[in-house]
Amino acid sequence: MNEQSTHVKGVKIQTTSYLMILIACIIYGFVLYETFHTSQKYQALTAATDSYIRSQDAASAVSQASSFLTEQARLYVITANPDYTEAYFKEANETRSREISLETLHEVEHHQEDDEVHIYLQTALQYSYKLMERELYAMKLVAVANGYDISQLAQELQDCALSEEDLAASPEAQKEKAKNLVFDTAYQDEKALIESNLSYSTSSILGHTRSIQEASTEALRLQLGRLRIYISILFLMNIVIFLIISLLIIKPLQIYVKCINDNRALEVIGSYEFKYLALTYNNIYELNAANEVMLRKKAERDALTGILNRGAFDQIKASLKASPVPVALMLIDVDKFKEVNDGYGHEMGDKVLKQVANLLSSRFRTSDFVARIGGDEFAVILPEANEETLSAVADKVKDLNQLLLHNEQDMPPVSLSVGVALSHQGFDETLYKKADLALYQVKEAGRCGCSFYQDGME
Ligand code: GH3
Ligand code: MG
Repeated sequence: MNEQSTHVKGVKIQTTSYLMILIACIIYGFVLYETFHTSQKYQALTAATDSYIRSQDAASAVSQASSFLTEQARLYVITANPDYTEAYFKEANETRSREISLETLHEVEHHQEDDEVHIYLQTALQYSYKLMERELYAMKLVAVANGYDISQLAQELQDCALSEEDLAASPEAQKEKAKNLVFDTAYQDEKALIESNLSYSTSSILGHTRSIQEASTEALRLQLGRLRIYISILFLMNIVIFLIISLLIIKPLQIYVKCINDNRALEVIGSYEFKYLALTYNNIYELNAANEVMLRKKAERDALTGILNRGAFDQIKASLKASPVPVALMLIDVDKFKEVNDGYGHEMGDKVLKQVANLLSSRFRTSDFVARIGGDEFAVILPEANEETLSAVADKVKDLNQLLLHNEQDMPPVSLSVGVALSHQGFDETLYKKADLALYQVKEAGRCGCSFYQDGME
């Protein structure tokens, strides 16, 4: 069996399935890796958008707070109502919208100090502080012009020192200067600087966000392309697995079932394992068939002489019963065989029986059936016999008796008595009886001869 396995060639299902599992695991690993990276890229994309919104919010908070301060300062300069200074300092010192939004942005986004956006926002804040100095000066001028108690003012206003010239000026002139300070073109220019820095920061954020979005989108596109390839490979693998199962497993199984039903050897197809199975089955199948032939041969052969036995004779007789062709039957008995046994021993008797069997087999056609049907009794069935055959039979018997009587084989001389009968169609019921009657005639007539059955023989 082992020797046979080395000669079997074919795809091993075991190896193929291990290989498929390995490839599938590798591809699933790649798919997992890509999906993990895809989600990372997606997060980067949303983070970039969030960052943009937060930076935008921070820029707008700086702008709004700066405008609020401008508005409070201007309202105070015009109305001299202390509520406005209160609102002004509340925003500048307590609410601190500008600083807080920048600090939050810095903490959340981890902006570097030299980050472009951060620099623009810081610069805007610095300009806003610078503008506050102008506003403080204007508000102080208004407070002085209105004769307010300086010690009651906010600390920043108390600390703001007016020039000698402004202190000496009339309240009207002071008010006028204050107005100029928060409404003139210099003030507008500085305000515009704040706005332009804020707008730079916004465009810088936008550019930065766009570049992140573009990079992430490109990476996502490539990853999705790779995912598509992996999924296609997995799909192809499914088809290959389906083909392997169909061609290497299902088809051979169907063919094997058919072969077994038809009682024939299996076709050596399919995978290595199936081929191996088929070859092993075929070996056993052939062995069985050979055994069957041998047993059948044994069953129909006479153990001593090797020619057909009584059973085989009866079978042939039955099979020729309905035959349309004529059949002749010869019944042959060794004369006085007991004397051979008694005189020369049983072994010699056996030898004589073998010699008679051999002579009969060699003298008749291969289409005739020579059988040993009893102890010293033989029979020859001659299908398709005619008158010519019968006259040849008589000659053959004569020859045989000559040979046996002058035995050159160192054996005692023996002779044969032969009764022959002919049926014109098939092995009819009476043929055996007729041949036996003819044989009886020969025995009665003194043995060693051949007699043909004739009507009226009793
Ligand atoms: P006849 O001429 O009337 O036929 O006389 P016969 O002595 O031949 O008598 P019969 O045919 O009745 O005797 C057959 C003998 O053959 C009887 C038996 O001892 C012997 N015999 C039967 N089978 C065998 C065998 O296998 N070997 C041997 N050696 N002898 C056998
Ligand atoms: Mg006899």
